[in-house]
Amino acid sequence: MTTPKFARGTLHTFQPPEQVSQVTRALHGVGRKVALVPTMGALHAGHRELIRRAKRLPNTVVATSIFVNPLQFGEGEDFEAYPRPLDKDLEVLKEDGVELGFLPKASDLYPEGATVTVHPGALGDELEGAVRPGHFAGVLTVVAKLFNIVRPDYAFFGEKDYQQLVLIKKMVRDLNFDTRVIGVPTVRERDGLALSSRNVYLTPEQREDAIVLSAALTAGAFVGRDGAEAVLATARQTLAARPAVEVDYLELRGTDLGPAPVDGEARLLIAARVGSTRLIDNVPVVLGAAVDHPEHAPDAGE
Ligand code: AMP
Repeated sequence: MTTPKFARGTLHTFQPPEQVSQVTRALHGVGRKVALVPTMGALHAGHRELIRRAKRLPNTVVATSIFVNPLQFGEGEDFEAYPRPLDKDLEVLKEDGVELGFLPKASDLYPEGATVTVHPGALGDELEGAVRPGHFAGVLTVVAKLFNIVRPDYAFFGEKDYQQLVLIKKMVRDLNFDTRVIGVPTVRERDGLALSSRNVYLTPEQREDAIVLSAALTAGAFVGRDGAEAVLATARQTLAARPAVEVDYLELRGTDLGPAPVDGEARLLIAARVGSTRLIDNVPVVLGAAVDHPEHAPDAGE
């Protein structure tokens, strides 16, 4: 097979994995780097921020995959209903200067008889994994496959899905992938709601209720100096104002999602149902006396 044509500055889309592999291999052969931004489509400003960061890298071609991965959806979840506005997404990729679009079909990635998956370890059964059994095995398996197909030098993931980001970094380390994983802070609406492809499911009233997730996290983080109990109590108090929001979990953890330190950097995470829509969010928190350390000053950088 000859290598598919690739001209810089325009969007090229490929469906077969072998074609994408050939193109990225050829790009590496002429000294270019490849940055991958994996998505499930229905692109919004959060995805576009990942693309924008990837575009900043010198001498690097940005590849974006769009694939609604059946393996990471559980029984009764929204796999069928998940939005798939492909034409609009391709316009976004063009506008944002993405040069490589990878749009595999499920049968391309999961041929009949494929049974081997990536096991996330204990963290895969906590937080999101406790509510969505098998979810992270599905995520890690598809990300491992994308990495093997694209061989990216860099891969960008949002902090919005914090547990996913931690597990992908862990997979890269534990399984020796030759890809640098870069986390990007969550992009939010002006009122704080984290952008998500699932926000389109919300009615106007539910959209109002949903603001309480980020409000609770922000309020909790604000009292980090007073310690873990104060953070959780403050967040819970904020949540109580919206009884229609059903919280699956509200947890304070370490930045690696182990136990939170008494003093230092931590992460406050929430998952909640608003009607039948499940939303997740998280924020960084600095706990205890560490708040006064210069590196945690508000203008200490990104
Ligand atoms: P998804 O299409 O939902 O699988 O998301 C694809 C990538 O975009 C993941 O790495 C997400 O964490 C990231 N992402 C989704 N929403 C946001 C957001 N609001 N801000 C930053 N990144 C996001």
